[in-house]
Amino acid sequence: MLPPTSPYVDVHAHLIHPSFAGEEDAVAERARAAGLAFVIVNGLEPKSNRAVIELCRRHDNLLPAVGIYPVDACGAVIDRAAWDHPFDPPAVFDVDAEIDWIDSVASEVVAIGEVGLDAYWVRDAAALAEQERVLRRLCKVAIKHDKPLILHTRKAEARTFELLQEEGVERADFHCYGGKLKLAKRIANAGYYLSIPPVVERAESFQRMAQEVPLERLLTETDSPYMGPDRGERNEPANVPRGVAAIAKARGESADHVAAVLRANFRTLFGQ
Ligand SMILES: [Zn+2]
Repeated sequence: MLPPTSPYVDVHAHLIHPSFAGEEDAVAERARAAGLAFVIVNGLEPKSNRAVIELCRRHDNLLPAVGIYPVDACGAVIDRAAWDHPFDPPAVFDVDAEIDWIDSVASEVVAIGEVGLDAYWVRDAAALAEQERVLRRLCKVAIKHDKPLILHTRKAEARTFELLQEEGVERADFHCYGGKLKLAKRIANAGYYLSIPPVVERAESFQRMAQEVPLERLLTETDSPYMGPDRGERNEPANVPRGVAAIAKARGESADHVAAVLRANFRTLFGQ
């Protein structure tokens, strides 16, 4: 049997990022040439959310997801005096108006993302509570429109899992999961998916995940421009085949088989 012509998918890319400025169309074409059927472009806040929808209108292989990144979600309540990271604290915007907007465009997108919880960059209790409030509202929007969530869960994997169960969310992908392997298996058992970026080529933690989580619960992503296979190089969707090859190698299975199952998983979760 001949392999399908576009066997690869990327569930999480940030093509609305300064490092891709002016090259978005070329990146979309390189993804197609590399054998990707679809790339889901994720928004983070009001500006990138609108830019995602606009970009995806121009490319039939780019699919939009809109959301509120957890660090951006708490800009209004975060303790700015205590912010000691090497980048600016999040800008303040009307988070509830943005959730209402996401609700209003939800029928045009394939997923609600990027959303989630982040206890790595954000540590003050009020800001973490605000992240949870925002995520709960976004879960309700996703359920109302029967859309999956694409989740960021850095240092908050268990809490995110709990919250999803409390909200009755059935369809979700945990992107760039960095929690415990045991919890990853529970997440998979609950019917959620975990997506693995091309950095799996050199990251043992993702190789272990590829081995231990059932293939039927895995997906591929890039998190472009981050999480690439080559240290210090900008990542892009065209690198997905390298991620698939590394997942197949870790599992001791053929790349064709792994690609076919991952492609089918994408269809199950996103309907395309
Ligand atoms: Zn991301």
